[in-house]
Amino acid sequence: MDLAARRATVGVKVGSVQIGGGAPVVVQAMTNTDTADVAATTQQILELWQAGAEVVRITVNNEQAAQAVPEIRARLYDAGCSVPLVGDFHFNGHLLLTRFPSCAQALDKFRINPGNVGRGQKKDENFLTFCRLAKDLGKAIRIGVNAGSLDPELVMAKMQENTEKNLGLSSEEIISQCMLTSALTSLELALASGLGEDRIVISCKISRPTELIRVYRQLAASTRQPLHLGLTEAGMGRRGVVWSTAAMAVLLAEGIGDTIRVSLTPSPGGDRREEVWVACEILQALGIRSFAPTVTACPGCGRTTSTTFQELAQRVEDHLRQHLPSWRQRYPGVEDLKVAVMGCVVNGPGESKAAHIGISLPGTGEAPACPVYMDGTHVTTLKGNAEELARQFLALVDAYVERRYGNVR
Ligand code: SF4
Repeated sequence: MDLAARRATVGVKVGSVQIGGGAPVVVQAMTNTDTADVAATTQQILELWQAGAEVVRITVNNEQAAQAVPEIRARLYDAGCSVPLVGDFHFNGHLLLTRFPSCAQALDKFRINPGNVGRGQKKDENFLTFCRLAKDLGKAIRIGVNAGSLDPELVMAKMQENTEKNLGLSSEEIISQCMLTSALTSLELALASGLGEDRIVISCKISRPTELIRVYRQLAASTRQPLHLGLTEAGMGRRGVVWSTAAMAVLLAEGIGDTIRVSLTPSPGGDRREEVWVACEILQALGIRSFAPTVTACPGCGRTTSTTFQELAQRVEDHLRQHLPSWRQRYPGVEDLKVAVMGCVVNGPGESKAAHIGISLPGTGEAPACPVYMDGTHVTTLKGNAEELARQFLALVDAYVERRYGNVR
């Protein structure tokens, strides 16, 4: 199955990046600094961008944040970073963008939550303010519906209809319907305002994987706008990674999703770049995009009782990650490199031969020799302690990269 086959969508330009319209799935991230803190926010955007984020969203929640945006943009340019910036607006975004035109100008896209733009008549008025600004300034918008902040009037109306017509819908189904209705009516309103369809991205985020899959399948069948995909409030650590991956992989495999964000809750003091790394891994695991060399390592078992194998696998991972930024410049295509570090003779030689370069370490009771394979051929056998093995094998990896991806062949 060709997982790179994509649903036909309209292409939307966000700064220098295209979302949808046949473009590769775009990786997004969001800062968690106080946007008013220009230095901290600029620094985090740079870190997210260097980790692989292609679009970065920042909260614009008050006047101080709105005033900080142009300075953040300027400092990013000074640092050589032109990553598109998205402003995340709730409640007062129409006011902030109107009062701070330099903020509006510095952003590439406005994220609008239709559930948080106002109530009653004000709701459409405020939403249209966003659309007009985007149209006049040549910006994109994301109609970002979220299950946790739906318009209560809409939810009440759907619940009432369910009761009166005896439709028998579960509360999850009603929420899904409300999300779709909110997204699609907002889309109609945006288009009617004169904003082109090449300026509008849509998302309908929810925190349960099965519901996310259901909503996005319906959304994909209902619109040709590009879709921003993500499981909202995915949670911390293992749970956040697994739940996000479970939900997004199903949809991406169906060609649904033009840009993704993994919404992980970082542990205190944790690394915000984790959400970027996970997003890249999801796309690479599905064969949709390549971001970094991969290390195939066996899980280890009773056949390998020393820690040499785990240590070498970690050293190789660290080495590849450390060198990737410069390798990308010097060795085009190095993202596709496959390295194997295996624990014993059972699967070691086979996996090592299947990789570009692989090493098969001896399991417990095996002769203390480590055959190395390149492109399926046994090239040498290494011996020594963990440190010596790591040094020799990493030197072989470097030489292989130079030979395969460098100009010297
Ligand atoms: S390759 Fe060997 S050590 Fe690794 S999991 Fe398989 S049997 Fe165990």
